[in-house]
Amino acid sequence: MTQFLCAYPWLQLSTESEESLRVCCYGESGKVVLDNNKTVKLSSLKDPNDFLNNSFYKDIRKSMLNNEIPSFCKGCEKLELNGGESPRTIMNNVYKDKLSESLRLTREDGYLESPKVNILELTLGNVCNLKCRMCSPFFSNLLKSDFNKLNISYDEKAVFEIESSFKDIETLKETISKLDSLELLSFLGGEPLIHPLHLDILKHLVETKKSNSIELRYNSNLVTLDKRVTEIWKEFKKVKLSVSLEASGSLNDYIRYPSSFEEVSKNINSLINLRNNGVPLDLSITSVFQAYSVPGTIDFLKWLSQYKDDFPIIPHFIYLDFPHYLSAEVLPQSIKVQLAREINDFVNSNKADLLSGKFKMENEKNLNILLHFLEMYIDKGKEQFFMDFTVFTKKLDKIRDVEGFFERYPDLFGGQIERS
Ligand code: SF4
Repeated sequence: MTQFLCAYPWLQLSTESEESLRVCCYGESGKVVLDNNKTVKLSSLKDPNDFLNNSFYKDIRKSMLNNEIPSFCKGCEKLELNGGESPRTIMNNVYKDKLSESLRLTREDGYLESPKVNILELTLGNVCNLKCRMCSPFFSNLLKSDFNKLNISYDEKAVFEIESSFKDIETLKETISKLDSLELLSFLGGEPLIHPLHLDILKHLVETKKSNSIELRYNSNLVTLDKRVTEIWKEFKKVKLSVSLEASGSLNDYIRYPSSFEEVSKNINSLINLRNNGVPLDLSITSVFQAYSVPGTIDFLKWLSQYKDDFPIIPHFIYLDFPHYLSAEVLPQSIKVQLAREINDFVNSNKADLLSGKFKMENEKNLNILLHFLEMYIDKGKEQFFMDFTVFTKKLDKIRDVEGFFERYPDLFGGQIERS
């Protein structure tokens, strides 16, 4: 493997629970930034640029320069070893020039001359309007009641802390004002578009005349689209929004409960209109590849194909590993093989169409990831957890009083459920 460098420890500040800093939102345990063994709050930083030379960041950069992979980066390493792209490879590509310039300014001990925070990643909290089946109370406050009803434990302290984030908007605005080289502001949630602070921050950036040099990024379920938000986006350099969506029609509303596919489709069309009328907006789709979504993949791709001139119609797929009982790997082998064959047949018969148009390259890349995941989920079976999947699914269907997952696909699951 070539040197394992990542742009984030050179260019980014990122927040999680109670505004405490972490290296990035993807890393596994060990990514929380410590100063004298204590967590550090974004709003406490006197000089946020200079903080990139805190010993924690210096040590990470030194390790990477010595080709040692920090323990919290194992997730990225795994994605790359599995043939996919990782947040590291994606960001290194976007910030290629900035990273090489920063490397030139980095000493052997990891010290960075003239540190500049170019990227700010804000997890605003866990306020959400959905209770997606594969999510947790840490990301959606609404899921707490379902977890309690199902007796599923979660880290209540971490949830309390994330709910306590960013109470002091004035100090946050002051800190953001000190980021004179900010180019990318990424909002994470919860659902960032409905968080009350989100609009306040955008207004502040417009008032301080920084907005036109800043790109905004979101992952959003797009159930709600506020006109005040789309209006203010016109003041920014660019807006990149990835819609989190795994399926079309009622399967989407089932997975991303209680989403409205009709509303999401309407909002996607509104965004395309805005983009066609000069709002600097890039759209894409991010999909969590999981047990619930695989049976709906063909319908989803058919629905997406109407947008081939508007955005990449093959979603950027993310492989769900946790919770383990919702991984696509838990499905019985015969079902996995059948679904993989059907999806592969559909792709092969429609390849020219799926890959045509101006997003050919992105579609090709994303399609390769999907096909790779279809191989992976067969190879790495976790069928021993199909019973856990069944129990969780039936219990959640019951408390939500929705049409059951297995009843949606009687031909596929009939025999399996009778046997389980
Ligand atoms: S390699 Fe991955 S986990 Fe590590 S800092 Fe970069 S994005 Fe985060």
